[in-house]
Amino acid sequence: MKFKEQIYGMKAYQPGKPIEEVQKEFGLKEVIKLASNENPFGCSPKVKEFIKNNDINYAIYPDGYAQELRTAVSKHLGVEENQLLFGSGSDDIIAIISRALLYPGVNTVMADPSFSQYSHNAEIEGAEIRKVPLKDGKHDLEKMFEAIDENTSIVWICNPNNPTGTIVADEELSAFLKKVPKEVLVVLDEAYFEYITDPAYQDTLHYVEEYPNVIIMRTFSKAYGLAAFRVGYAIGQADVISKLEPVRAPFNNTVLSQKVAIVALEDQEFIKETVERTERAKRQYEEFCKKHGLKYYPSQTNFILFEVKTDSDVIFQEMMKRGFIVRSGNALGTPGFIRVSFGTEEQNSKFLETLEGVLKEQGALV
Ligand SMILES: *Cc1c(COP(=O)(O)O)cnc(C)c1O
Repeated sequence: MKFKEQIYGMKAYQPGKPIEEVQKEFGLKEVIKLASNENPFGCSPKVKEFIKNNDINYAIYPDGYAQELRTAVSKHLGVEENQLLFGSGSDDIIAIISRALLYPGVNTVMADPSFSQYSHNAEIEGAEIRKVPLKDGKHDLEKMFEAIDENTSIVWICNPNNPTGTIVADEELSAFLKKVPKEVLVVLDEAYFEYITDPAYQDTLHYVEEYPNVIIMRTFSKAYGLAAFRVGYAIGQADVISKLEPVRAPFNNTVLSQKVAIVALEDQEFIKETVERTERAKRQYEEFCKKHGLKYYPSQTNFILFEVKTDSDVIFQEMMKRGFIVRSGNALGTPGFIRVSFGTEEQNSKFLETLEGVLKEQGALV
């Protein structure tokens, strides 16, 4: 068959191991997954109430244009309805953008390490991938700018960055956007937007108004706690969004996902609480790292990447045996580190106590 040549070398996305599998493999009663940056506090209780009390006709296709959700998000953000593109998670938006703008002969610029889906989709489209190493765990916008040439189609800025959790300061972003050629699309992936507390980040919505070549991506999967439903969206100028609309699959958000996203959006109290609890969790981890002299990156997200002073695969395995799933830095391009999503306070305490034991056992702590 005539598969694209590049497909032959590719593998499907490797998610963190599912809880049930780890339970079986190690005979554990309880397994805590701190690997995929999901919200440990679940989602707004109003969503569960809504699902219990709503009768939906499953035989009918969803509204492909997600009109009700569109109205809700446009009001929430203060943008026009036609400035929004909805996807089955931002993963879908990344695929749509890549499909629309990437092909053999063009290139795309991204930080390294950063979110894997940018390069994954670029590879499928046969575009050249230009990875620019992070500087102190942060995007090196100067080097990224230097990587741009007349064949550059998309620059991805993961802000805050996954897996380091670091932000791009507004000052730097502003200077970067000013000089990037107008034919180059700059995508700001703000999957962790709600968690940001550092004033060095400033809301980026106005950049969409100033620059036609800027698109912002946000999602209901992280702080809103709706990863199961797959709802993400992009914000851009109307004529740019209209170029992406034909690439979108006709019914890429389900009926139920559109409805619960609206309910979740209305409950900003839940988001506020989530952010407060996340801040407390962050302090737990930072204190642990400081106490043991482990390097960590200042996170503006619900996860933290920190040093384990030994092979991160070993720590990943040893923690899994004890009922904790994390991400090994080896899988993320940051060997010697692990990425841990914050859990509930109780989960974090248990995790850090267990980790301390494992690190001592491995001779990583004195
Ligand atoms: C989790 C994540 C996404 C994907 O989110 P979905 O909306 O669930 O597809 C996108 N970008 C980054 C940086 C993420 O961490």
